[in-house]
Amino acid sequence: MQKETNDIAVIGAGPAGLSAAEILSEAGHAVVVYDQMPSPARKFLMAGRSGLNLTHAEPLAGFLTRYGAAKDWLAPCVTAFPPSALRRWAEALGQPCFTGSSGRVFPEAMKASPLLRAWLARLAARGVVFALRHRWIGWSEGGGPCFETPAGAYSHPGRNVVLALGGASWPRLGSDGGWTDLLPPGSVSPLQPANCGFRTALPMAFHQRFEGTILHAVTLCAEGQRARGDVTITRSGLEGAPVYRLAAALRARIAGSGSARLLVDLRPGMEAGELATRLERGRARESLSNRLRRIGLAPAARFLLHEAQAQGGGEAARAQEGGRFSSLADTIKSCPVILTAPDSLSRAISTAGGVRRAVLDDAFMLRDRPGVFVAGEMLDWEAPTGGYLLQACFATGRAAGEGMKAWLAARQDGAGASAIEGGTVSPKADLPPELG
Ligand SMILES: Cc1cc2nc3c(=O)[nH]c(=O)nc-3n(C[C@H](O)[C@H](O)[C@H](O)COP(=O)(O)OP(=O)(O)OC[C@H]3O[C@@H](n4cnc5c(N)ncnc54)[C@H](O)[C@@H]3O)c2cc1C
Repeated sequence: MQKETNDIAVIGAGPAGLSAAEILSEAGHAVVVYDQMPSPARKFLMAGRSGLNLTHAEPLAGFLTRYGAAKDWLAPCVTAFPPSALRRWAEALGQPCFTGSSGRVFPEAMKASPLLRAWLARLAARGVVFALRHRWIGWSEGGGPCFETPAGAYSHPGRNVVLALGGASWPRLGSDGGWTDLLPPGSVSPLQPANCGFRTALPMAFHQRFEGTILHAVTLCAEGQRARGDVTITRSGLEGAPVYRLAAALRARIAGSGSARLLVDLRPGMEAGELATRLERGRARESLSNRLRRIGLAPAARFLLHEAQAQGGGEAARAQEGGRFSSLADTIKSCPVILTAPDSLSRAISTAGGVRRAVLDDAFMLRDRPGVFVAGEMLDWEAPTGGYLLQACFATGRAAGEGMKAWLAARQDGAGASAIEGGTVSPKADLPPELG
């Protein structure tokens, strides 16, 4: 029998779990951070591969609207640890930040590794212990979390827990969503892809021919929302920042109606009237393809237009015969593409769904499991890319840490023995080579 302790188990060594560990260790609590992977924060490191977008510089009121239906829920913790505080926090760890032209905030190093290295060192200096290769598999009879480890089963000798297990995208980085089976049915809203690509109803030939092609700076419109940026054609669909931005609305439409209609402006920067005039110019017998090439439509865009015409019964071709190009110009400005399904969750940037707000109190504690707090992407919120994801993970992690602090203070039941000193868990984090 292990002696029960007040050591706090933080399960999940991503930004949310490490933020909770930071708040708790700062307050003098003994913290063990468990993770099933051999090294911490793999998704955070991956996020840094393409430029770590920590947060966004837009005013807080607008910033909060990015959380959609979860805005009111997340507002208190994001307000308590706003983008400016996250930036100061990174700078205090030796990572100066800058704001890009789009308002996105990045560390100057662009990568996550120097920031993570400094953060882990600070946590270790405060006595935080890392127990890696520990997969959380449920609760022991004593009420604490138990783990599968290479050395066999292990139970944490305490019941104060922060769950920060992430979503289920990019599962090879550790967050695989397996935790959904460990919480009571009904407490978790189904996990779904967010910030994801979508499959199209376009012919396979389109995707085979144009896979990897970028439609530059196009404007997308769907469900009353617009988004602009580069769209990449994939093996079976479309992806890229503007698609991600519309993903929640598109996903909802597909769930309700079986498909969604995306309108693509294939020639941004030129109004329909000017397009029609330019299309009309030239020899009377000039082919349509030539006219489209002349106005700067790339092959992939011409293919999309051709498909739209075919779906529309060749209306544009008839218009051309009559020498009128205004209808064709309208289609170029608003070319319909039918989307049939979101890409798989494993390929998405983030996860929608998760632990429902209703099963948590205001401090992110599970109502039916006092002493167990939840943070990060495993909560039921979603947001677009742009730094909003990490901001909410840091903010909810810190809020869960504060919640635990207040919960322990209210119970006032002393410090208890420390299992860390007893050597029940490995006090050394195995760091990936780039961090070690
Ligand atoms: C390619 C990519 C790029 C991204 N870029 C950005 C960006 O630039 N800006 C931004 O804001 N967001 C970005 N994100 C999203 C961001 O990385 C995540 O939202 C964030 O890491 C989630 O933090 P978290 O702590 O909640 O969960 P995670 O970082 O997923 O950490 C959860 C941890 O829990 C562990 N775990 C899971 N299950 C168990 C278990 N049963 N037992 C033990 N441990 C377990 C996992 O191993 C993992 O270490 C990106 C995501 C991807 C995939």
